[in-house]
Amino acid sequence: MTVASGYTAMRAAVDAEARACGRDPRSIALVGVAKRQPLEAVTEAIAAGLEEIAENYVQEARQAFALLPPVRRHFIGHVQTNKAKALVELFDVVQSVDRLDAGLALAAAAERAGRVLPVLIQLNVSAPERFGCPPAAGERLAEQLRARDALRVDGVMAMGPLVADRRAIAEAFELAAKTFARIGGSTLSMGMSGDWREAVRAGSTMLRIWTALFGDRGPTLRSQRVGAQCS
Ligand SMILES: *Cc1c(COP(=O)(O)O)cnc(C)c1O
Repeated sequence: MTVASGYTAMRAAVDAEARACGRDPRSIALVGVAKRQPLEAVTEAIAAGLEEIAENYVQEARQAFALLPPVRRHFIGHVQTNKAKALVELFDVVQSVDRLDAGLALAAAAERAGRVLPVLIQLNVSAPERFGCPPAAGERLAEQLRARDALRVDGVMAMGPLVADRRAIAEAFELAAKTFARIGGSTLSMGMSGDWREAVRAGSTMLRIWTALFGDRGPTLRSQRVGAQCS
């Protein structure tokens, strides 16, 4: 399967799942995770209709973005405060703000650049996950960041647990969705190649897809299957 036909098939599957849940397919954005991908693959996906891409590393992003069409660019890697300036220069959205000092560094950099930076609060809804704000502390962090004019807190990002138990995945997404409802905003970014159906059922408005779009070039692949009904 080519990248273009993979994108078209993925988008059609997301649209079908959305309709099965009584949701408007247009309420679910598909972000292509471009990490470690050759430029041709990303360019092909964009030509096929992909409108948003994500990167985990500043350096990769700097090289790739210079050569890619101007699609919307999301940062989904760990935010290091000494990279705040580069993140503000390179990205339209930073999805992975999981603590106050990271948010404040981005606010200061955005202020200096004279722009307002959309951000998401990264929540930790899965025990082995290294990063992410505890859900119980999410509202407070959002409030602290909303006090800064140079940041716009648009919602929440979360990663599902890397387990085979579909119920555990669904429960993690439901916790993220509940926290998102309290924090508010337009964007609930959750769902990857192996768990996007559960994410759509739990209310995700943004899927971040790598393997299912670009093929398995990475170390971890999640089990892929279809199961539980829409909630
Ligand atoms: C790699 C990655 C994804 C997508 O991974 P899949 O291969 O689609 O499961 C989503 N979010 C983050 C933060 C990632 O690093």
